[in-house]
Amino acid sequence: MNEGPKENSPGQTSKKVLVIGGGIAGLTAAWELARLNVDVELVEKGHFLGGHAIQFCCKAADECQKCGACSVEKRLLEVIQEPRIKVHLNAQLQGVNRNGGFSYSLVHRPLHVDPQKCTNCGLCFEKCPAPGAIVRGYSKNNVPLYAIDESRCLYFKDKSCTICQDECPENAISLGQVSEEASGEADAIVVASGFQAFNPVGKPRYGYGINRNVITALELERMLREKGEVVRPSDDTVPQAIAFIQCVGSRDHQLRHGFCSQVCCGYAMRMAEAMYHRHPEVKISIFYMDIQNCGKNFAEFHERCKDHIRFVRFMPGDIFQGEQDQLSLYYGDEQDGRSVKETFDLVVLSVGIMPGLSNPSLAEMLNLDLDEQGFFALANPLDRTSTNDQGIFLAGTAQGPKDIADSMVQAGQAAQQVAEYLGAMACLK
Ligand SMILES: Cc1cc2nc3c(=O)[nH]c(=O)nc-3n(C[C@H](O)[C@H](O)[C@H](O)COP(=O)(O)OP(=O)(O)OC[C@H]3O[C@@H](n4cnc5c(N)ncnc54)[C@H](O)[C@@H]3O)c2cc1C
Repeated sequence: MNEGPKENSPGQTSKKVLVIGGGIAGLTAAWELARLNVDVELVEKGHFLGGHAIQFCCKAADECQKCGACSVEKRLLEVIQEPRIKVHLNAQLQGVNRNGGFSYSLVHRPLHVDPQKCTNCGLCFEKCPAPGAIVRGYSKNNVPLYAIDESRCLYFKDKSCTICQDECPENAISLGQVSEEASGEADAIVVASGFQAFNPVGKPRYGYGINRNVITALELERMLREKGEVVRPSDDTVPQAIAFIQCVGSRDHQLRHGFCSQVCCGYAMRMAEAMYHRHPEVKISIFYMDIQNCGKNFAEFHERCKDHIRFVRFMPGDIFQGEQDQLSLYYGDEQDGRSVKETFDLVVLSVGIMPGLSNPSLAEMLNLDLDEQGFFALANPLDRTSTNDQGIFLAGTAQGPKDIADSMVQAGQAAQQVAEYLGAMACLK
């Protein structure tokens, strides 16, 4: 990981930008700013950089399906190698003051793993007796690759276990580290704090959390990334019939989430194609209301998918678990409307994009407006990065649902807007 910003050459003004959030939008904003010779402090509240998208699988079938997952890996590597970007992991903003520029305070919670010493051997992960206490990043470019989740670690419960610390051959683990406070100054801020995926427990008819073979698309992404194939959680067998249910937590006025998440049709079709490519015998059905059909060549892609995937325009009702953990879905026949019962081995819920959990607290701290859905509001609809504060800019899904490519484009725009703002500020001084 980087030690921090490079010295500027004599005569060069040193500008510093605080980027909040280390997902693809924050990584891209930070990297583009560094390319403009701006120093960046990148604050990520989680243990690892990469946000949601670093968890996604490559969805290539015969050829690349342009899902964007690999661009996150590449950007992550560029960021960790960029000396102008200083990364703060497991860190959260405590306060921000406007004083011409911005002064801020942070709390760093310890990762307990020294990135300089850790060799990614994974012994701590293997030996740990408490499930989930040692967490592993999704990419080999996550530095360090392992961290300790204090909420699950036995040492932080009753000091009863120090196995990871004792066994680490590099002495890279130190359980005694404590949180530290830090403060800093910035000339501008980019908010790239992302989204939260809809939790389908809020849609009880699908029995998520009760029926073991009902999973979310995020879980499917992780499974395909980690195992390279899809298996049923209940028995680790390859499912022969898979149903995707679209718009789970999107376009749902009962839940007050009336908006389209814009990514679920694309990711479901790409994952279905990737699974078909691996197991052509598997029958895949996608239950939907409408296909979100924008984007370059999307209509053609949809047509191609119809060769292997059945599309059913009906949102199923309750899901029932039967013998051998099979799942029964009821839906209306598209032709005559009669009720049909069909059995599947695995049901995937295409969960949507919800406003980030920390949006309200960040908005209050930064004095920013949220829109009616809870995303950060644009001050000028013609400028996709603008906020009601001239020195603060938006990037990625913090501002509203969008895919990886669009998040990267918007983050690049944010970096340009910051550079213009800093240039204007320099002229004013
Ligand atoms: C199931 C699913 C599958 C998808 N598949 C695809 C796909 O195949 N292709 C595609 O193009 N798009 C896909 N998307 C959309 C994609 O996930 C988003 O476009 C992308 O992740 C947006 O990146 P982001 O940086 O805006 O947000 P995030 O990925 O959410 O990253 C935000 C980061 O900010 C951090 N953060 C949050 N609050 C704070 C805070 N207060 N302080 C510091 N850090 C903070 C978070 O921990 C996180 O690391 C999918 C979405 C879902 C839900």
